[in-house]
Amino acid sequence: MKPAILENFNSLREENMVAMRSAQEKGVKVVGFYCTYCPREMIMAAGAIPVGLCGTKEAPIAAAERDLPRNLCPLIKSSYGFAITEQCPFFLISDLIIGETTCDGKKKMFELLQNKGIKPVYVMQLPQVPEQSASHRLWYEELQRLKKYLEETLSVEITDDALREAMHVINEETQALQNLFDLNKAKPALISGLDLLKVSWQIGFQADRRSGVKLINSLADEIKEKAAEGYAVGEMSTPRILLTGTPVGVGSEKVITLVEECGGLVVAMENCGGYKTVELRTDESDHTDPLHLLAEKYMKIPCSVMTPNYRRLDLLKRMIHDFQIDGVIDLTWQACHTYNIESYFVAKMVKDELGLPFLQLETDYSQSDLETLRVRIEAFLEMI
Ligand code: SF4
Ligand code: SF4
Repeated sequence: MKPAILENFNSLREENMVAMRSAQEKGVKVVGFYCTYCPREMIMAAGAIPVGLCGTKEAPIAAAERDLPRNLCPLIKSSYGFAITEQCPFFLISDLIIGETTCDGKKKMFELLQNKGIKPVYVMQLPQVPEQSASHRLWYEELQRLKKYLEETLSVEITDDALREAMHVINEETQALQNLFDLNKAKPALISGLDLLKVSWQIGFQADRRSGVKLINSLADEIKEKAAEGYAVGEMSTPRILLTGTPVGVGSEKVITLVEECGGLVVAMENCGGYKTVELRTDESDHTDPLHLLAEKYMKIPCSVMTPNYRRLDLLKRMIHDFQIDGVIDLTWQACHTYNIESYFVAKMVKDELGLPFLQLETDYSQSDLETLRVRIEAFLEMI
């Protein structure tokens, strides 16, 4: 039987909607953001609640295509569709929105959102050559600019102490998630890919991050206790798959579902919401300018919008080793050029350097290609 605490994650999103509404009635602001590069610590230090708004469902895409080209990443269309159709309660409740100039599609979509004037949309300029000192200077200045904007818009002062406190909470959260993800280094694995996704996606809506940390830690403890009594997910022979590429959430999990229906297990996910950021922490023993620490941390996120993006390959290599991976699936949302092109380097490393099976899947949020994907995934798993 699955760990009982997993049940608590099923309704977390709805419960947190209620918690955010009641906090808002008491004057607390809610700040929506789309991308992992958004420094959540800054929002928390401003006394506001950060909430991720990336669209993971197909439903609002048709409405989005009235303004956006059809040949655009489904994540961008879904996010925009949710915003203009007012179908996402978290968008509706947000007092303001923060975006970043990550990929071309997202940054131009933010222009449309600004033009619609539904909510105030603030866009940070993200430098994309992470190893250059000029990028760090620009990103640091962007954090200063965001701090000023939040202080003025929310009529608050963001103190260094508040930033350090927020950094501590987010460090605890990422550590808790990493500890949970790391349980799957065990063979056989201890948690399915679908459950991992549910946990990491639902926890993103947590209004009170500290109670979220407790919940993740309780789940990890329960899994460890059960494992000591022989509990496992799958067998020693179950193919262990690493999923990398574009972000996945509840609603866009079809590839994970298919892998697990076809007899494999997604034991680790490198993408956003997975391992991409859980090793990144701000150094709490460093008492210099907290904005510098934040700038340093966020510049290290190994997203394909960075060039070159060596950190992703390094992370993947370590994960393949640590999670005893049998095959890698690189998921590309249609029209995501950065992940699509970067797949060349991932394939080269996985196939040529490590000699492991590799499969790139390009798809969208629709269910129309399910059977084609199933056939390709079945054939891939047979190679293992
Ligand atoms: S994949 Fe890159 S652009 Fe997309 S949410 Fe993650 S960090 Fe942001
Ligand atoms: S998946 Fe690719 S195209 Fe879509 S928002 Fe992320 S980086 Fe942009």
